[in-house]
Amino acid sequence: MPENFIDGQWIAAREGGRRTIRCPANGELVAEIDESTAVDTELAIAAARTAFDDGPWPGTSARERGDLLLRVADLLQRDKAGLARMESLDTGKRLVESEYDIDDVTSVFRHFGHTADAEAGRVVDTGRADVVSRVVHEPVGVCGLITPWNYPLLQVSWKVAPALAAGCTFVLKPSELSPTTAIHLMRLLDEAGLPAGVGNLVLGDGPNAGAPLSEDPRVDLVSFTGGLQTGKHIMAVASGTVKKVALELGGKNPNIVFADADRESALDMALTAVFLHSGQVCSAGARLIVEDSIHDEFVAELVARAREIRLGGPFDEKAETGALISLAHLDKVTAYVDAGIAEGAKLLLGGQRVMDGDLAEGYFFAPTILGDVRSDMSVAQEESFGPVLTVERFTDEADAVRIANDSIYGLAGAVWTQDAGKGQRVAAGLRMGTVWINDYHPYVAQAEWGGYKQSGIGRELGTVGLDEYRETKHVWHNIAPAPQGWFGGTP
Ligand code: NAD
Repeated sequence: MPENFIDGQWIAAREGGRRTIRCPANGELVAEIDESTAVDTELAIAAARTAFDDGPWPGTSARERGDLLLRVADLLQRDKAGLARMESLDTGKRLVESEYDIDDVTSVFRHFGHTADAEAGRVVDTGRADVVSRVVHEPVGVCGLITPWNYPLLQVSWKVAPALAAGCTFVLKPSELSPTTAIHLMRLLDEAGLPAGVGNLVLGDGPNAGAPLSEDPRVDLVSFTGGLQTGKHIMAVASGTVKKVALELGGKNPNIVFADADRESALDMALTAVFLHSGQVCSAGARLIVEDSIHDEFVAELVARAREIRLGGPFDEKAETGALISLAHLDKVTAYVDAGIAEGAKLLLGGQRVMDGDLAEGYFFAPTILGDVRSDMSVAQEESFGPVLTVERFTDEADAVRIANDSIYGLAGAVWTQDAGKGQRVAAGLRMGTVWINDYHPYVAQAEWGGYKQSGIGRELGTVGLDEYRETKHVWHNIAPAPQGWFGGTP
């Protein structure tokens, strides 16, 4: 069965390309899917353009659109077991994590389902009886949505749900490495009654299937989540037609531990912060920054605990974290660690591929900790996107904030202290889109998500997320027009 979904039809890639998807945990064949080229994407853009310009969708009531999203949320829960399995097979992540992810995806659809009609705009008081002046929101138009492989359906939902709530039409190009749940989502949108052409799916790689979404003048907005270099490229290309651009890029996120932290929680969550999903999380706490007075003891205990982390495939119930997405990514993580050691970092744990027993067929990398790191080293600056923790030390509050902010990124970070005032002061000092105090990784669909500095442009989730997909217009309506007589007419 073809997997591209264009103008309400399942259509095979025009040039007939196919791609094999294998589970990164054991190499098992997962699926063979369409590998599209620009020809397919252009067809999908044409469908989305027509559906926006001529179709009923942008003109439907916001409540109707919200109700459709709520129906999709119910369908996601109906199909949760199957979707979680697909997500785990594509990414190699533990089934239990995929199950959480599908619940998160559902909460995103519910959130935008409920809030689609929450804010209709406002009336402006002009002080004049002959004018009605309104500020209204209108859909941006055709959106090109490009997503990464680490949280495949969650990343898709962060874009698709607000785009639909706002009344946009879209072409989705999910990661070529993990497309299966996006295919199923299109089935659910179709089942929920989305009109033909409003939601389109094109499968394939970035340079071929993805590129037209930032080049084609018929696309009004390109919303991208992925790596910094790709994001810069997309932004540059999109400038050719002055598209709206939303970017969610990488992070190199600090996790600051003060001596007065609740030690047990800080240790436990420092492991979760960086080793969840083998570090393939944009907000991973990959830079541990520890107060001098507890540094040695804290790091020794952390290394001892990290040594015990069990690696395993998605359906191994004893596994605590899983495989990397691909051999190319494993090579990248290996090179990153080697460069850090060459720069002077001390390897405290891990540092290499694990090929014991059942793990031999997968891309497993040992939980890795690098000590003696300084913020000017490339390992402290660059994103590894793997299970690699760098450890730095600080002397006082100001030093902690300075070290943490010494980065081109500004996605997320955390601070651990039992002094509430200190926690709030440090949070205020961090130039990051999300700061957790005494926690790591929780997110809620009602709060905005996005990066400072080179971590991105724009915000996803929350009501601000909806605004990415809406233009805001001031409508001035003179309801008693009359000549003004400035140029000689009757005053
Ligand atoms: P990537 O940049 O390699 O690819 C992301 C997507 O862009 C894929 O769908 C890819 O096919 C597409 N793409 C690549 N080149 C393209 C081009 N020229 N034109 C159009 N599309 C193109 O990123 P990745 O390896 O899939 O994901 C990992 C990165 O994503 C990490 O840097 C991570 O931090 C980031 N990320 C950020 C967030 C966030 O919320 N800020 C969330 C998840 C992941």
